[in-house]
Amino acid sequence: MNIILLGPPGAGKGTQARHLVETRGMVQLSTGDMLREAKDSGTEMGNRVSDVMAKGELVTDEIVIGLIREKLEHGAEGGFIFDGFPRTLAQADALGALLETTGNILDAVIEMEVDDTALVERITARSTCGGCGEVYNDKTKPIPADGRCTNCGKENDFKRRADDNEESLKTRLMEYYKKTSPLIGYYYAKGQLTKINGLGEIENVQAAISDVLAVAKSNS
Ligand code: AMP
Repeated sequence: MNIILLGPPGAGKGTQARHLVETRGMVQLSTGDMLREAKDSGTEMGNRVSDVMAKGELVTDEIVIGLIREKLEHGAEGGFIFDGFPRTLAQADALGALLETTGNILDAVIEMEVDDTALVERITARSTCGGCGEVYNDKTKPIPADGRCTNCGKENDFKRRADDNEESLKTRLMEYYKKTSPLIGYYYAKGQLTKINGLGEIENVQAAISDVLAVAKSNS
């Protein structure tokens, strides 16, 4: 089963994707994670995209499509979760073509709806565990006093993303509304889109996603 998690920055795509990886053996393809990895390891491409990412703008379609193409070639038994890709209509077209040539189909596109105020609150207060990616929030889920991640137990390895500040977030949200939100209509027209409320408790969002996957499975 291959799915897209669609939603603005801070909607919870990464958190939900990790849960699906753990529970269903799916493979998460996060172009944001791949780009950050390239940046951190100082590759030529990583250096090229570094400023663009810090500002919160989108990197070129060519780069992210190349990253996804490479991953699709390897296949994944449990299926792929596209997290933060596609983000433009050109990327959506490219993904459709890539899935077709690799003999895959897209089973569902899940739009996670969260209002802007909640997004700003989530993003400006978030940090993640460097060991497992568990997400913490200064107000709602603070880093444990003993400095150990509640999920993987790693000690004192919590990171804040350089682009998780109000200035970059403004640009990231504008990029989302201008370039990514047209994908809602794109996939709706194909009969592939399901909206869920991304604001509830993590478990409720997990349950909503499970329901969508069950329907998609029964239709396949
Ligand atoms: P994310 O981790 O998904 O929030 O992505 C972090 C940053 O990486 C974005 O603000 C963009 O600069 C870049 N990025 C990630 N995925 C894409 C994509 N599909 N298209 C263009 N830029 C992307």
